[in-house]
Amino acid sequence: MRSPLPDYLTEVLEACVDDSGALADYIPELAKADPDRFALTLVTAEGAIYSVGDDDTEFTIQSVSKPFVYGLALQERGFDQVLDVIDVEPSGEAFNEVSLERNTGRPLNPMINAGALAAHALVLHGRRPEEAVESIRSLLSSLAGRDLVIDEKVATSELGTAYRNVALANLLRGYEVFEDDPDEIVEGYIRQCSVTVTTKDLALMAATLAAGGVQPVSGEQIFSRDVVRQVLSVMTTCGMYDAAGDWLSTVGIPAKSGVSGGIIGILPGQLGIAAYSPRLDEHGTSVQGVAAFGRLSRDMNLHLMDAPIVAHSVVRRKRVWGEGDDAVTVLELQGDLQFTSAEVLVRAVVDEPPATKRLAFDLSLVRAILPVGRRMLLEMIGRLHRDGLEVVVVDPDGHLPEPDTGYGFRPRVYASQDEMEARS
Ligand code: GLN
Repeated sequence: MRSPLPDYLTEVLEACVDDSGALADYIPELAKADPDRFALTLVTAEGAIYSVGDDDTEFTIQSVSKPFVYGLALQERGFDQVLDVIDVEPSGEAFNEVSLERNTGRPLNPMINAGALAAHALVLHGRRPEEAVESIRSLLSSLAGRDLVIDEKVATSELGTAYRNVALANLLRGYEVFEDDPDEIVEGYIRQCSVTVTTKDLALMAATLAAGGVQPVSGEQIFSRDVVRQVLSVMTTCGMYDAAGDWLSTVGIPAKSGVSGGIIGILPGQLGIAAYSPRLDEHGTSVQGVAAFGRLSRDMNLHLMDAPIVAHSVVRRKRVWGEGDDAVTVLELQGDLQFTSAEVLVRAVVDEPPATKRLAFDLSLVRAILPVGRRMLLEMIGRLHRDGLEVVVVDPDGHLPEPDTGYGFRPRVYASQDEMEARS
């Protein structure tokens, strides 16, 4: 069988063809793009890639770089320092609006240009300007999984007409939002916006955010979970500027658009999406890209608020081995252990206590355990131990490193059920 997914995506592209909108021309070089290019790529959190249309066409990343550079600033400078400099409130205004907090001059959020210039300044501070741009280029490259280059022609073209960004940077400098030279900030920010990508690159970057900061193909943990959560929160409320509310209610996928025609969307835990088509609407967002996202969201139930119920399947199987005092109840768990799935597990043990003296939790099919899941599991193990049960864990992937229950008791850990059987 051939996977239906590429055929479906091709259908989406065909259904979303629309020649309305206009190329960005305030950056002269962007007005040279082929207006009919259209591409769509999906990358799952597991790294499966589905891509259709002009997905080899390269374009400059523009504002789609903003969430990633914000993430870099958070990672390098820490939350406190970044939040001191850039707020996280939606501005409800266009991307290039002079939108600063009244008394402090603090940019309202990192997705509008004012905040993105400040985020660039945070990365730049203490470095030479070329070093800051290089650290951003290199971050974007590891997110994409290939070496990305800067389109110097687009950068030079934008620098020639960067009146608004120069004004914004000077205003920020005037408010002492940063101490570095505003011209250096503008130049670095514009070069950051001129990193060249395809929809495949963007979808991989988006999928890294969907996968909790782990690049799904290389397996590299690029951002911490905390940074990802912050970046996605800000994208959800501010990523689509003055269309943020409409976008969240209709499409429901945290997203970021750029004036060259790229859009990324992230469905946390599930997938990253990227669309490219250079004709823009009045918000500076790709017309065909918006249509494609809307269609995908509706067809595939991707709206964030349309969440599947994931908890109920945590206990894959319960079985009893052996007889008499040697008998062991094995609870085979699966999926992700977060709060609600751990709650299902607790309830399963409370409502139907094991009839044996020995109990094993088999985590072989557990994919990830959030800290709350780990705490609840360990708490449960401690309580069962106090009740007189012998509890062991099958944990080949090391989900419970050094499982100390806080009761001075460590359950025995095996790599497989076979090993458990052989050794007991
Ligand atoms: N480099 C562009 C600018 O600052 C990015 C804007 C965007 O993509 N929305 O104007």
